[in-house]
Amino acid sequence: MFDLKKIVRPTILSLEPYSSARNEYTGTAGVFLDANENPFGTWNRYPDPNQQKLREKIAQVKSVTTDSVFLGNGSDEIIDLCFRIFCEPGKDKALTFTPTYGMYEVSAAINTVTLLELPLNEAFQIDEAAVLPLLQTENLKLVFLCSPNNPTGNTLEGIDFILAHFNGIVIVDEAYIDFSNRPSYSQKINQYPNLIVLQTLSKAWGMAALRIGIALAQPELLSLLNRIKPPYNISSPAQQIALEALEATALFETQKQLLITEREKMTEALQQSPIIRKVYPSEGNFILVTVSDADRVYKQLTDTNLIVRNRNTVIRNCLRITIGTPEENVLLLAALQNIKS
Ligand SMILES: *Cc1c(COP(=O)(O)O)cnc(C)c1O
Repeated sequence: MFDLKKIVRPTILSLEPYSSARNEYTGTAGVFLDANENPFGTWNRYPDPNQQKLREKIAQVKSVTTDSVFLGNGSDEIIDLCFRIFCEPGKDKALTFTPTYGMYEVSAAINTVTLLELPLNEAFQIDEAAVLPLLQTENLKLVFLCSPNNPTGNTLEGIDFILAHFNGIVIVDEAYIDFSNRPSYSQKINQYPNLIVLQTLSKAWGMAALRIGIALAQPELLSLLNRIKPPYNISSPAQQIALEALEATALFETQKQLLITEREKMTEALQQSPIIRKVYPSEGNFILVTVSDADRVYKQLTDTNLIVRNRNTVIRNCLRITIGTPEENVLLLAALQNIKS
């Protein structure tokens, strides 16, 4: 049976969280002489530490309850908070499936957490026979699953298997879920008290500059994140702008659909390009391709001011190409035509 208290670091369980001025008095009207703010100006007040309005809106958009929504300063902050809540430095461990998003590794290293890495198979799927013994590893606290996976673009099929066989925290990073037709694991948080679904406003919602990451999980689990987050981790302008943008669902749908259509067009067009050896199918807003010499192609593209992501060190001779505007995508295809194979 899953017991949340047993896997949390003792330091975090016994911690008396910082209580900010805006936490202790939550009314909105009055004369505020409690937070040492400057009384003059427009941005002089501290933001709502609970991001109440924005969390209500996100809950509505994601079809979950408001108390199942936690917001971080980007998903990257939430990844770091998870390590700090569950992993005792130098002792506890986490597991990822490679190749995948680089932040899990960096965040593990920052927190002195050993990261086990199981390579995905040729189809970029989880080898269930190989993962089963790994899930029994002593002091293994976190499993990170990225689906759709960055940089490969596919969704993972083994998530239910992990949830069925692991008693620690399972983090499903769905940064690209809006570009996929698969259902989100957010609709399974009520079923699994150890499941955290990560989403973000940085990708399909087009608000990377605002730094708003989303954790969806049961309230008891989220209360741990709330214990240790910096009190004012989302700024007021970010909360306001995000709230307004989340109302523009028609624009969101149109843009998302356009990017998906462009992704399909690009997948076909890239397959016709003589210098491209392989195009991987994608459920994200990017496409992974294999070329004969990724370093050379990357350099030649950069020389014409076209910047793609060179993933050669992660997957041999692979480039990851983000879907841009139709005009940008045409520019890329033209530039590839000019590179000799
Ligand atoms: C882009 C990305 C994120 C988003 O990070 P933010 O900090 O929310 O901008 C998270 N996970 C993956 C796999 C990503 O590719």
